[in-house]
Amino acid sequence: MNNHSETVSAERAYALMEKLSFTRVSCSEEETRAAAMLADEVREMGLEADIETFEASCGTVTEAKLTVLAPYEKEYEVTGYIRSDPTPGEGLELELVYVENALPANLIGCEGKAVLVNGRVTYRIFERIMKAKPAAIISFSGAVTDEKDEVDLDIRKLRETYSGAFGSAVMVNISAKDALELVLKGAKKLRITVKAESFDGVSRNVCCRIPGTEFPGETVSFGAHYDSVFFSKGAYDNMSGSVIIMELLRYFRANPPKRTLQFNWYGSEEQGLLGSKAWTKAHEEELKDHVLMINVDVAAPVLGSERIMTMGADAMQNYVDAMMKELGKPAEVKADIYSSDSVPFADHGVPAINFCRFGAPGTAFIHERRDDPSLGYMSAEALGKTLDIVLEFSKRVVNAPVFPIERKISDEMKDKVDKYLFRK
Ligand SMILES: [Zn+2]
Repeated sequence: MNNHSETVSAERAYALMEKLSFTRVSCSEEETRAAAMLADEVREMGLEADIETFEASCGTVTEAKLTVLAPYEKEYEVTGYIRSDPTPGEGLELELVYVENALPANLIGCEGKAVLVNGRVTYRIFERIMKAKPAAIISFSGAVTDEKDEVDLDIRKLRETYSGAFGSAVMVNISAKDALELVLKGAKKLRITVKAESFDGVSRNVCCRIPGTEFPGETVSFGAHYDSVFFSKGAYDNMSGSVIIMELLRYFRANPPKRTLQFNWYGSEEQGLLGSKAWTKAHEEELKDHVLMINVDVAAPVLGSERIMTMGADAMQNYVDAMMKELGKPAEVKADIYSSDSVPFADHGVPAINFCRFGAPGTAFIHERRDDPSLGYMSAEALGKTLDIVLEFSKRVVNAPVFPIERKISDEMKDKVDKYLFRK
């Protein structure tokens, strides 16, 4: 696929992705193991790798039960949210109200009751629900046609950004199929039991620095998150991006860069960008030297297309779009937020760019058991397409005589970042 065969290999990257395709949830032993494996890979190149730890909110749920008591009796499978409030040991007997998307009119008279809400509880939905003071929140996931043994019931988390702003609650998740039954059969009274504990865990960023030969005071930052969610082997999202930047590190080790390069593999991205938030906070002073953040998040589906999202001044999008055309690389370039570790950098004034290869509809899966390379919808060749684009782009900007991207974030983008981080 490329003309840098001595230093960069999509096949080697893909093999490393397969080797690291196991569930790597924030603060778990597997996340720690993956960090160690990535650090080993860096050290085998003869470079130094630092594993920087940070505290991340986590917790355990040892029991979650939902039993309908009237007008019929039935126990349903539910998962408790990580960092849900626990119930008393015998559970809570509650009246059930289906509140759809939790509009104010849906929430009338919900105080002290259990509310069943559509799909995922977003920040704004959580805000509205908490004002109504229910005793428990039930969300649902999956599709009403799912067969139980083919789909895992999501384990979700009450994020600190939510609970910090609006307080915590008893929260469980049920399948969409069962949610449908609850509403169709008019479930009115139920008992919910959650045994849960909340605590701080330790998560890790893997970091490596290569000093620049000509402009050491200007740093280009590379990032990719290596954690996954429950039930997902996290190959597509995002060991694919992690191994792509590993190949870039290999390239720049062999071809010393004019600017300083910071390579970071972030932990706990899936829990709200915790790794990149921790890194930008711990290295706030250094960030004034960062001229660009390059993030890779999702790659490798055979049937897919290349997307690039820029977060900077308006000119940045045009520059990248023109470069892709000049190189003859098919990539859609947009100026927009990409929900990944690039956001905390943009929030600190560092322009950021996200490279990804999205699967065509129905051909690639994230955040579930089908994010698994053994299913055959990913390939080294497809991963190589993104690798090639990121490498071509990176070589040019890293070694440019004058850095081509202004260190500026447009007001419109600042506004989007503020909204994304729930400040507006
Ligand atoms: Zn991701």
